[in-house]
Amino acid sequence: MIQQTNSQSTNLQTAATRRRVLVVGGVAGGASCAARLRRLDESVEIVMFDRGPYVSFANCGLPYYVGNVISDESRLLVASREMFHERFNIEVHTETEVSSIDRSACAIIVHDLRTDQTRTERYDALVLSPGAAPIRPALPGVDLPGVFAVRTIPAPIITAMPIRKR
Ligand SMILES: Cc1cc2nc3c(=O)[nH]c(=O)nc-3n(C[C@H](O)[C@H](O)[C@H](O)COP(=O)(O)OP(=O)(O)OC[C@H]3O[C@@H](n4cnc5c(N)ncnc54)[C@H](O)[C@@H]3O)c2cc1C
Repeated sequence: MIQQTNSQSTNLQTAATRRRVLVVGGVAGGASCAARLRRLDESVEIVMFDRGPYVSFANCGLPYYVGNVISDESRLLVASREMFHERFNIEVHTETEVSSIDRSACAIIVHDLRTDQTRTERYDALVLSPGAAPIRPALPGVDLPGVFAVRTIPAPIITAMPIRKR
């Protein structure tokens, strides 16, 4: 979902001034959008935020990581903050949660989870790609130890799984 102010042209390539695009969520949707935008427009400033420690990782590899077919967590990482900066000139802030949007001011409030500081970031265009949360159906036993939702990398959850220790 992309939000733009009314006064802005939708053609990012022909913008006369340097525009600022903020991307919330840095995995499949957010990272793809940011990289595509850079290919369309070399002048625009692109900043991406993710509340997790990683961006652009292979969710589809998680089942293989659970099953220990992929043993090294780093093999799930497709790109890094440094790569986004060097290859695409995209600034990435991980462990940074976007807590609210002030649409009238064209700004978002971001919370740095490492320092517990909040700050405001201005945008000309805002891309929201925050993904989804898994549904836990109300089935008997769903809260028992050993029942996990596998949605993202944080490895500590996965490495604790009994199936991985077999
Ligand atoms: C185990 C598993 C296996 C899969 N296998 C396949 C497959 O084989 N093939 C396939 O096509 N698809 C597969 N998928 C689905 C695919 O991974 C998803 O469709 C895709 O990751 C969705 O991308 P997304 O960017 O929309 O959301 P996500 O990947 O969920 O990324 C959203 C990101 O936004 C961040 N975020 C959310 N809210 C905020 C906030 N307020 N502030 C900052 N950051 C925020 C989250 O931390 C997250 O990193 C699989 C998914 C899983 C979980």
